[in-house]
Amino acid sequence: MADEIKRKPIIIGNWKMYKTVGEALELVGALQKALPRLGDIDVGVAPPFTALGAVARQLEGSALLLAAQNCHFEAAGAFTGEIAPPMLKDVGCSHVILGHSERRQFFGDTDELVNKKARAAFAHGLVPVICVGELLAEREAGQTFLVVERQLRAAFAGIDATAARRAVLAYEPVWAIGTGRTATDAQAQEVHAFLRQLVGELYDGSTAAALRIQYGGSVKAENAAGLMAQPDVDGALVGGASLKPEAFLGILEYRRTS
Ligand code: PEP
Repeated sequence: MADEIKRKPIIIGNWKMYKTVGEALELVGALQKALPRLGDIDVGVAPPFTALGAVARQLEGSALLLAAQNCHFEAAGAFTGEIAPPMLKDVGCSHVILGHSERRQFFGDTDELVNKKARAAFAHGLVPVICVGELLAEREAGQTFLVVERQLRAAFAGIDATAARRAVLAYEPVWAIGTGRTATDAQAQEVHAFLRQLVGELYDGSTAAALRIQYGGSVKAENAAGLMAQPDVDGALVGGASLKPEAFLGILEYRRTS
């Protein structure tokens, strides 16, 4: 049975292209203070590359996870402007967000590229947070499952079950990102259950049961409890609402409103 394992919730703030080093340290300081009262939950932040080193130093000894927002698939080389997985590991990252819709839309990250990056991340000891999600036109054309299946199959190609179960998958319907329009609890659950079943077919039931699937798309304190109560929703990838401590803490404390 896919749901026999109790999955630890994981909520990550994706700061996108926001926060100077000083602002990043201030935000992370506020989160660190609140962390002990949050209970059994993994919390992470994904600052811009420029703030990773300073945030990593501040997080030494803390349970807060540090994620990057992207990486290259090569370990080193003449790739001006790019950052390699070993560099992220070296600076103190444990996770890296891959295939975010903004990367797919504005920077040409294809399914194949996301797969190369995911394999490189694993090879260098990073956990990829792999984003999938349909455009509004695709949802309206009834292609949601088709699109996320294609993205998931491609992203996990060549990745074995031992690695796959450690990955984090994020379902982020593109029409819900930064729009204020959230998927309903039922819409999120429907796609999450589909993705978990697909992971079961690609690997096995135990991998499907272990893999954590985050929802992302205009998550805020008001809708977090409903989404997190869904059986296949194991966390959230949060953009806008992760930039202010009170807004992000409102999400992290979702159990208080559930
Ligand atoms: C995101 O960027 O991953 C995201 C979900 O953004 P927002 O929460 O602002 O919709």
